[in-house]
Amino acid sequence: MKSFPDVATLRDSGMRGGSRVFELTGIFRYRSPEIEIAVPVGFVTDGASVPRLFWNIFSPFGAYFPAALIHDFLYSKLSTQHHEGLTRKQSDKIFLGAMRELGVGWLTRRTIYRAVRLGGWASFKKKPTDMNQSKIKALQRHVRTTPDGFWGRNSIAACKAHLRKLMPGISPWPKAHSRALAKFFGDAGEESNLVNLPVAGLGVKYEGQSVKTVRCNRRVAESLGRIIKELSIHHPEVLADYNGCFNFRRMRGGSSYSLHAYGAAIDFMAGSNGNRTTWPAQASMPITVMEIFAREGWLPAGAFWSRDAMHFQATK
Ligand SMILES: [Zn+2]
Repeated sequence: MKSFPDVATLRDSGMRGGSRVFELTGIFRYRSPEIEIAVPVGFVTDGASVPRLFWNIFSPFGAYFPAALIHDFLYSKLSTQHHEGLTRKQSDKIFLGAMRELGVGWLTRRTIYRAVRLGGWASFKKKPTDMNQSKIKALQRHVRTTPDGFWGRNSIAACKAHLRKLMPGISPWPKAHSRALAKFFGDAGEESNLVNLPVAGLGVKYEGQSVKTVRCNRRVAESLGRIIKELSIHHPEVLADYNGCFNFRRMRGGSSYSLHAYGAAIDFMAGSNGNRTTWPAQASMPITVMEIFAREGWLPAGAFWSRDAMHFQATK
């Protein structure tokens, strides 16, 4: 069994947020006895999960690059309230094992591992640059607030108000409390509440593979069908990076269920809109995608919780 069965094929995607980024043009997998990880086509990386400080000594595009790519991907999907994923420590451990598989020497891999463990996320978080400041200013104009390039409390409020205005006067969806959810959608994880929404020919892809149906709650099926049709016209790139709808799991560290457990939430473009990337400073989910969901009364997480911009849910 090969640990890295694929050769990473990357396309230079130019500068983003002040660093050069590369986009994966083929699936990239890593297998160990403990875990199997598949990085999807379209995942964007800049090697940022390894502290910049070390780049002079250990280039992220050096011998350990395949391991860094996996690590970057795991960091983009770190666990949160909404998505039960791996913790940062578990991700770092996988990174260490993957470097060993690549034959990276003991001292080098321990040094890199320690840098990653100690460095923490904060030390290599990117500072806003002119480029994403102009992006933020454009977004601020779009939601009609002062374009100062700083996405703070006022911008968040203006953006929520902008999206709320597009939503139906009376929300078709329940509140996000377990009793209201179960009453409206049926019990979490209950298969009889689910239907297969046909999406063939609309360009929906999961890890590069075409998807014919999306398994979702029967109460959201019509609405989600309209959303996916709209996205197929205006945002085919979003549909091409679909990351799942129904998934039976509890929220991290709690007894309540994620909206995915009811089949009433959907994720897109997780690679560039994960839990540790704030929206809109770092995450790339377009506001026009959020508007499509808002017109159907769905909440886009990026605008409402400033992170998890991959996530959209059918609640008030
Ligand atoms: Zn989600």
